[in-house]
Amino acid sequence: MEIRATNELKRLLKDYFQGFFPKEGPAPLVAWCTSVGPAELLIAMGYSVYYPENHGAMLGATRQSNEFMGAANALGYSPDICSYLTSDVGAFLKGQTPLTKAYGIPSIPKPDILVYNTNQCREVQDWFTFYARHFKVPAFGVISPNMVNELEPAQVDYCASQFKDLVAVLGKLTGKKMDTDRLAESVELSRQASVLWGEFLDFGTKTPAPMTFFDGCIQMAPAVVLRGTSAAVTYYKALNEEMRAHVAAGESAVKKEGVRLYWEGMPVWGKLRYFAETLGGMGANAVASTYCNSWVFDGFSPSDPYRSLARAYTEIFINRSEEKKEALMTAMLKKFSIDGVIYHDAKTCPHNSNSRFGMPQRLSAATGIPHLIMNGDLCDLRCFSEEQTTTSLEAFVEQLQENKN
Ligand code: SF4
Repeated sequence: MEIRATNELKRLLKDYFQGFFPKEGPAPLVAWCTSVGPAELLIAMGYSVYYPENHGAMLGATRQSNEFMGAANALGYSPDICSYLTSDVGAFLKGQTPLTKAYGIPSIPKPDILVYNTNQCREVQDWFTFYARHFKVPAFGVISPNMVNELEPAQVDYCASQFKDLVAVLGKLTGKKMDTDRLAESVELSRQASVLWGEFLDFGTKTPAPMTFFDGCIQMAPAVVLRGTSAAVTYYKALNEEMRAHVAAGESAVKKEGVRLYWEGMPVWGKLRYFAETLGGMGANAVASTYCNSWVFDGFSPSDPYRSLARAYTEIFINRSEEKKEALMTAMLKKFSIDGVIYHDAKTCPHNSNSRFGMPQRLSAATGIPHLIMNGDLCDLRCFSEEQTTTSLEAFVEQLQENKN
């Protein structure tokens, strides 16, 4: 089923990327930020925000990663570490970017500052400091408490104080003070976009579901790169309007949806179409995921910006204790009426692979919902076998269909 809003998404992303290279007037100040970093603070301080992980995902989706990772490996960045990092750094070393073909811009935008948050992994620190050394610009790291069970007020205070330190650094660099109205506005726009993005993902609770996890991987772009702006809010309002019409017409993302799956872990960016077609051909739909839901942030509050950002960005799924992750997953499996779970064990991202310490077995025992562990990677296609995966998926879906009969 076609999601028509995607045409508008392409235009939106073109505007976003071309905005780093204006035809007239001065170039914007540019901050690079991790995908779950405090973008709202950067926007409020007047920066245009660029997300290297999005670039890594583009390199994966366009299947260019394997051309470039070797250059980063040769510089000492192991083939075993994050393939977003090695794809992105490798492409940079080779002077290439898919942004040129897609959006007509000459290169990735040069940073004035790099801001990372270790709420997702430590790799982002090494990734961003590589560029800080290269461009001779500051890298500011927010060091988050990790493996959080219930978030404590002291942990919120700790992160909020680092956000304030960041603003002080930005103030020194720009000669400007934080405009509190502008900050409240960017936090409010992020809040609205997050609520709307959550509404989109909740269409996956419908039977049949009008979208797949693989649609979500495309539609999530504004939640990642445009949060804190009105463009994301406007887009998701229109998208959800369209989805309501699909639901009202009883339209299904896959023909004869018979089996409902949950996707745990990263996408295999270069194989989105393969998975959509293979599962769709079996009457199976991945209706929900932890990955897409990771950009639904609870509790952004414009009246308490620092603490609410600290809370929202520290409470993300990837940063939680095993116990908390299992509780969150259990709730999701129930909410989306899931028949089976696919765990993607992404070779180069241990942080977003939850199949290595017994979680699938524990959750299957507790819920009675079967699981499949699938080997692959976000970008490095040497770690993924289409033939083996097809065989595993066929057997798994068949088992789930038999369970339902
Ligand atoms: S979470 Fe995984 S994919 Fe994302 S930057 Fe860290 S190592 Fe890479």
